[in-house]
Amino acid sequence: MNKLLVLFMGMAAVNGFGAESVFSYKVGNFEVYMLVENTSPGRDQILIGADEALKRRYLPRDFLSEVNTFLLRGAGRNVLVDTGFGGAVFESMKKLGVNPADVDAVLLTHMHGDHIGGLARDGKALFPKALVYVAEQEREYWTRTQVNRGAVAALAPYGNRVRTFRPGALGAALEELLPGITAIAAFGHTPGHTVFLVQNGDAKLLIWGDLMHVQDLQFPRPDISVSYDTDPAMAAESRKKILEYAARNKIPVAGMHLLFPAIGTVSPGGEGGYRWSPAE
Ligand SMILES: [Zn+2]
Repeated sequence: MNKLLVLFMGMAAVNGFGAESVFSYKVGNFEVYMLVENTSPGRDQILIGADEALKRRYLPRDFLSEVNTFLLRGAGRNVLVDTGFGGAVFESMKKLGVNPADVDAVLLTHMHGDHIGGLARDGKALFPKALVYVAEQEREYWTRTQVNRGAVAALAPYGNRVRTFRPGALGAALEELLPGITAIAAFGHTPGHTVFLVQNGDAKLLIWGDLMHVQDLQFPRPDISVSYDTDPAMAAESRKKILEYAARNKIPVAGMHLLFPAIGTVSPGGEGGYRWSPAE
């Protein structure tokens, strides 16, 4: 079962907002490290269709926003899920004894800058040995539209080390991308937005990428999307479906924009919403 570990071996890993920047968590034989890239003031202007009354009801006055990545260690591999901007996350990995050259695979939930910004610098791959996994639909979208040339450029130095896949349906028996890791479609935030399910024995963790950006409001009101969502209606459908699945099956979840420790469980919380219980 999911057993909690102590915070980062007692090291005082602190980010700019005075909060810890590493949280470790066990999923069977996998060691999962949540690495904070940065913490900044949250912006309620990104919420679509949330009026002032709704914001006042749910949002703390000075709510924060976080960018996180997850490092999975197990089965003889170091797997990074998203890269952040390539800043604090690299420092935290180094403290854990993991150099960029030790990373065997980078899994991308999608190709926004806060998720792929650590892939390359000056046209060079920052992970010299890693395979990079991205949904076929995601790569195709950014390549075809060219709305963000940086997204395409970040993958270029990886050449034939880029592996594309087609995310499967939630709850289906899926082929593993890597031992213990499957990819589930959660489209809407972007056209190929992917959730990764980490599984070892009975222990599971859903790493849900950008299914949610403003947790204080979107847990109780998962119908509210944000302006970063390519297709806000589809994003809301994916969010509701995965929240329902995680709550019903009691599967812990982890998110790139959830606040520290960014891993926890969800349960139904009235009015069609959910309650968040952060891991301890
Ligand atoms: Zn993001």
